[in-house]
Amino acid sequence: MAQATAVKIANNNQTRVRLGVENDIREQVALSAAQTVDYHQPVLVMSRQRLRANVRRFMAAMPRVRPHFAVKANPDKEILRIFQDEGTCFEIASIAELDAMVTLGADMETVFYSNPIKSPQSIKHAADHGVIWYCVDTHEEVEKIAMINPQAKLYLRIAVSNEGSSWPLAGKFGAGPAAVEAIIAAAKQFNMPICGVTFHVGSQCCNIDNWVAGIRAAKQLFAKLISHGFMPQLLNLGGGYPLQFNGDEPCIEQIGEAINRELEDIPESIQVMAEPGRYLVGSAGCLVSQIVGVASRDDARWVYLDTGVYGGLMELTMDFPLSLVSERTGDLALWTLAGPTCDSIDVMGRHQLPANSAAGDFVYMPNLGAYCTTCACDFNGFPAPILRMVD
Ligand SMILES: *Cc1c(COP(=O)(O)O)cnc(C)c1O
Repeated sequence: MAQATAVKIANNNQTRVRLGVENDIREQVALSAAQTVDYHQPVLVMSRQRLRANVRRFMAAMPRVRPHFAVKANPDKEILRIFQDEGTCFEIASIAELDAMVTLGADMETVFYSNPIKSPQSIKHAADHGVIWYCVDTHEEVEKIAMINPQAKLYLRIAVSNEGSSWPLAGKFGAGPAAVEAIIAAAKQFNMPICGVTFHVGSQCCNIDNWVAGIRAAKQLFAKLISHGFMPQLLNLGGGYPLQFNGDEPCIEQIGEAINRELEDIPESIQVMAEPGRYLVGSAGCLVSQIVGVASRDDARWVYLDTGVYGGLMELTMDFPLSLVSERTGDLALWTLAGPTCDSIDVMGRHQLPANSAAGDFVYMPNLGAYCTTCACDFNGFPAPILRMVD
């Protein structure tokens, strides 16, 4: 069985691992190692204490910014309850996420519907349940909301740079200058109030300037909105706050410092909020998986895990510097990492693991509390990771 003391940190770039990050990884692995008893399928081990600590740290770093957890990052019911208990509000994008808010008994006036493109049914459903705030980034959406829920308050999502984000979201969403004009015109035509401005810097954003530029653009838009007779009351800083995978990423206090400075000249009448997803849940979760088999092929040696692209590891196909920690000690080698399915896209690049890795070894993946279980399915009959809460 895995012993916390017996794990060796395997990282693509060990020299860059700073002590704090390494200790954090060790702690996450130690907490998860106990979950290999009676192991039947991959397990995402989530720490309740860490969830609470993450919220508190976010709030301390940005006292003026009210966090609304982006439910999509991990919609587990107990996680939502813990965040609610810590004073977090929520951000949703779908009917199912809205229903989760109803089950939770969330105050609907603080639930933000931030998906810029919403189906007519979902707008109706949200209106019926008392949701007030809706994001728009097109004039079509302004008209659609006006027809279904004329009581709605709108906040306008502007396009901002996503440079330096591991998972850019620009392109799909965000209004450029021409779209902003069209949205303002539509809002006037349909008598809908534009009450706020939002932006999203892209997920796992390590470029602090993106928030600074976003806030400055929002201030300019506030002035424009006022000149059109609107009364701005909301600044929504979106998500994107990064995890510390290898210590190169800015920590939340550094990001907070820059954001707090930009907020100084924003009047008290403006409510400032953010929509952290990954930051609040990511470092609270460590995925436990097991090696199915190793294989020597012409090009390289391969490790096949019992979970992969379909089992919550989609982000590993991108350039995410996740650490893989084996229960086995020994010299490290570069392996091609693959999932268990028979699909050729189920391959996750090259990663370091012990050279003598073998079937049956447990492999831990810290910092996977976000976008893992929620993105997983049981394609090809391989069970998706289950989520297990621990203290
Ligand atoms: C996904 C998303 C978030 C959360 O992003 P993170 O990178 O997980 O912080 C916040 N707001 C909106 C509108 C989103 O789509």
